[in-house]
Amino acid sequence: MALDSFNREIDYLRISVTDRCSLRCIYCKPGDRASGFPENQILSAEEIVRVVRLARSFGVWKVRLTGGEPLLRPEILDIVRSIKALDIRDLSLTTNGLRLEELAAPLKEAGLDRVNVSLDSLSARRYREITGGGRLEQVLSGIGEAQRIGLQPVKINMVPIRGINDDEILSFARLTQEDAPEPYHIRFIELMPSEGRLGWQKNRCLTTREVMERLESLGPLMKLPFRGKGPSRNYRLKGAKGIIGFISAVSHSFCYCCNRIRLDAIGRLKPCLFSKTRIDIASPMRQGADDEEVLRLLALAVESKPEGNYLGHPETASLPSMSRIGG
Ligand code: SAM
Repeated sequence: MALDSFNREIDYLRISVTDRCSLRCIYCKPGDRASGFPENQILSAEEIVRVVRLARSFGVWKVRLTGGEPLLRPEILDIVRSIKALDIRDLSLTTNGLRLEELAAPLKEAGLDRVNVSLDSLSARRYREITGGGRLEQVLSGIGEAQRIGLQPVKINMVPIRGINDDEILSFARLTQEDAPEPYHIRFIELMPSEGRLGWQKNRCLTTREVMERLESLGPLMKLPFRGKGPSRNYRLKGAKGIIGFISAVSHSFCYCCNRIRLDAIGRLKPCLFSKTRIDIASPMRQGADDEEVLRLLALAVESKPEGNYLGHPETASLPSMSRIGG
């Protein structure tokens, strides 16, 4: 078991498998040929699997694949299959859902346990505007297929943005009240400062408290027991089958229970989403580092975890785009 300097157990690795994306969301700036990481620096599937194998050996049993858009990676099924074979008990993926209809079944077969799908509007026109061209029906079909195939729970990530989509908060929450075969799990994520077309305007961010106030018209929110890890605080509308989660990265700190480290697409470990510390493990691996040396670097990332986040600190007033960090 890996404990950091503040006695937190680190058992979760989030891996960005690419910084490229098929969408251009207003609050995110994915890499492209000109601005993205050079192709030859992106970790290979074998390198990713090697890091997971070593992380597994010191107690990581939970892995999430993200990006950029992880389903753009041609070898995504091999990556999933090889990671699952390492006895990773909880293997999940965050996706924009555009390729999910075709890939949900093969992903499940390869060993993926569950997915989170990002969806910021239920209006086709608005979805297209927010994402810079995405087709809503494609994502909805992907969500349906993921539910049908049993990539459960399928969680939907929604970032409410004032003046852009905040009038849809109730529509998203109502999904949890539907009598669907698989109840919806909606997560409202506070807008964080990062690069993107929108630019950072603090007043665009709706805090969890504000979202909760708006939900009052749907009835009381019942708090669900907190299992002690992760940033989401979960609730249920009275009588609803589905769950509503809140991720309050801007208005609250959940660092006391942080259990994760991150690996970006070019092989840099990030001890904390909000800090600028990065530990390059790609170069040593490519120069022939043995497992012991790579393990030492993984341990260093765990040891370097700060006690709390830096959001609001001048150094990180604006984060790099989530697609570079692996949101
Ligand atoms: N392409 C995948 C997707 O669309 O889900 C995975 C990568 S995306 C960067 C992961 C998540 O980060 C998405 O749910 C997205 O909404 C969220 N995200 C990106 N930038 C954000 C920001 N500035 N504030 C809050 N959430 C953000």
